[in-house]
Amino acid sequence: MKLCRFNQDRLGLLEGEQVFDVTPALQALPPARWPVSPGDPLIVHLDRLIPAIEALRPTATAHALAQVTLHSPITQPSKIMAAPANYRLHVLQDTRDPGVDQGVHAKALEGVDRPVDKYGLFLKATSSLAGAHEGVEVVFPDRRTDHEIELAVVIGKTGRDISRAQAMAHVAGYTLGLDMTVRGVEERSYRKSPDSYTVLGPAFVSADEIADPHALTMSLWVNGERRQHSRTGAMTVDIPDLIEFASRAYTLYPGDVILTGTPEGVGPVLPGDEVRVSCAEIGEMRFGVRARLLP
Ligand code: MN
Repeated sequence: MKLCRFNQDRLGLLEGEQVFDVTPALQALPPARWPVSPGDPLIVHLDRLIPAIEALRPTATAHALAQVTLHSPITQPSKIMAAPANYRLHVLQDTRDPGVDQGVHAKALEGVDRPVDKYGLFLKATSSLAGAHEGVEVVFPDRRTDHEIELAVVIGKTGRDISRAQAMAHVAGYTLGLDMTVRGVEERSYRKSPDSYTVLGPAFVSADEIADPHALTMSLWVNGERRQHSRTGAMTVDIPDLIEFASRAYTLYPGDVILTGTPEGVGPVLPGDEVRVSCAEIGEMRFGVRARLLP
């Protein structure tokens, strides 16, 4: 099942180029009362939403995908975790570019087989979330902002100290993620968390639709020029290990997102650019890059 958020507050079932409006399924959600438990309501209650969505599907209004505005399918993750330097060619090729690395990591990563084991994960602010409709708003016009396409894993089940053997049972599904990044020497949590610097979409794809998340091909184009193109199997620390590693530190909640690292080919974006990302099993989305209009 592919679920999207469209036209601001509508829940959509995405099938091919059609979006079926299944918003009334949200009535299956329990009313929220303070204090709200951590987690994204859509994912927390996915088990009760799916039958409601299936019941609505035959009579749901269909919209052409091209005619709706797409927002992030995940709205309230308790956290967005991300893996640094998790594709070997990204480390070998991109960090040789001083504009990418700024002298921070290339030296430190020499001879390190699994950077995640050494450097851990980093967190991105949940307020950095955006969807295709919002796009990316460049925050420092005189600095370099890069695209990083990543497979985003969406956690489905609460857990701490999750073993590698149990890890995949904690995955609800997947989406495409952009770990947009200001290049520089500040903490990652500053450079990678401005508003709009985590774009998710086009849809949340439930885990049952993806037989092997390490056998996907994801691609990114800027203004029609392909910049990134890689198999997810090239990631150094795989998804079960990332979940085991993350859950040693953090309780993982439904809706939490793990960005699994970017392959080679990162590069700058500028206001006016159009970015397109695609993965056959997840879908495709386009979004714009714009300048920030200061007050
Ligand atoms: Mn990244």
